[in-house]
Amino acid sequence: MIPIAFKKVWIENKIANHYKTKHILSKLGDIDIDYFDDLNTLIHNTPTVFHPKDRSKTLVLSAIRGEILRKCPGTHGHLCCNYHIINQYIGCPIGCSYCILQGYLNQPFTIINVDIESIFEELENFQRNYPGKQIRIGTGELGDSLVYDHLTNFSEDFLEFFAGRNEFIFEFKTKTTNIDLLLKHRSPGNIVVGFSVNPDIVRINEEEFSATLKERIDAATALVNAGYKIALHFDPIVSIANAEQEYKQTINFIFSQLKPEDIAWISLGTFRYTNDLKSMMEYNYPKSSLLSREFVLCSDNKFRYFRPERTNLYKMVIGFLHDINEDLPIYLCMESPEVWMDTLEILPGNCSGCPQEETMDLLFKRRVTLKKGTQN
Ligand code: SF4
Repeated sequence: MIPIAFKKVWIENKIANHYKTKHILSKLGDIDIDYFDDLNTLIHNTPTVFHPKDRSKTLVLSAIRGEILRKCPGTHGHLCCNYHIINQYIGCPIGCSYCILQGYLNQPFTIINVDIESIFEELENFQRNYPGKQIRIGTGELGDSLVYDHLTNFSEDFLEFFAGRNEFIFEFKTKTTNIDLLLKHRSPGNIVVGFSVNPDIVRINEEEFSATLKERIDAATALVNAGYKIALHFDPIVSIANAEQEYKQTINFIFSQLKPEDIAWISLGTFRYTNDLKSMMEYNYPKSSLLSREFVLCSDNKFRYFRPERTNLYKMVIGFLHDINEDLPIYLCMESPEVWMDTLEILPGNCSGCPQEETMDLLFKRRVTLKKGTQN
């Protein structure tokens, strides 16, 4: 059960009369409301909080600021997958001990950017400026894409916008089963719903309020029946006791319900952390055992399992996935070219920072049906 009980809402004056602001407030019911003009001043004047639970007590409704559509910055010395991100939700109540947001976010509240029309304007500009270019976009970078969907109804806005716009493949990334609004519509074809997956023992120990694996895969099955493609994110893969048995059972369970052709793509990434995240994990989640072993500092200033261990974990998961189907589209998230070669035996492109876009993009586009779509 996710604790979505905001105690207070701050509203930026310039979006106070926005239809989404009114919609969200109508869902929140009786709640303490206040207004502000400048987000930085609000942050400065609000006592600091560190725990995601505390950050999830106060909601800020604001206008999106800064660069709206950004390429994922990737990470130095590691291959990136050309993903684009939109920061619509900033903050997440699910409470994963390993959540990188703990090391990034400095605001003591959850932010929802309500002016979705600014996002659509930006995407239309992209279409005009880069005719024919296709990109993958997601909203799950600084929060879960669906955890607040019943408050915002943004999923329906995105479905309507992306229908027939084949320049875009759009992914909702979630650890919830908050899919009711998606199920009211058939997918227009270019919509992917990504579920992070792990053995349940990882969820029990490290993800306080996420849905169980069974709940997530039941949700994925319902979405497949409504025409959506599913992405699976084995991220973070964790070096646990009985890892072989746990990951094998997990993968077999997933594919006892889903078919390989339902899958748009599968990402793999082993547990990693920055120094900032480590401090926050120790403070917020002292019972987590994720940090109690040795790690190696990599060229992007993130700590990872030593390369032989990472390679073994990836090979193990890839092996179980290949036992299901050799053709599953698998990629590694933020990994070095050496580990790509050791595990998947391919290198997507050969430039120093990023892979050649075409090579990587082929992996993603071949499983997603791009068609002129209509909604129910
Ligand atoms: S679901 Fe994602 S964004 Fe939310 S706490 Fe977990 S890792 Fe962080």
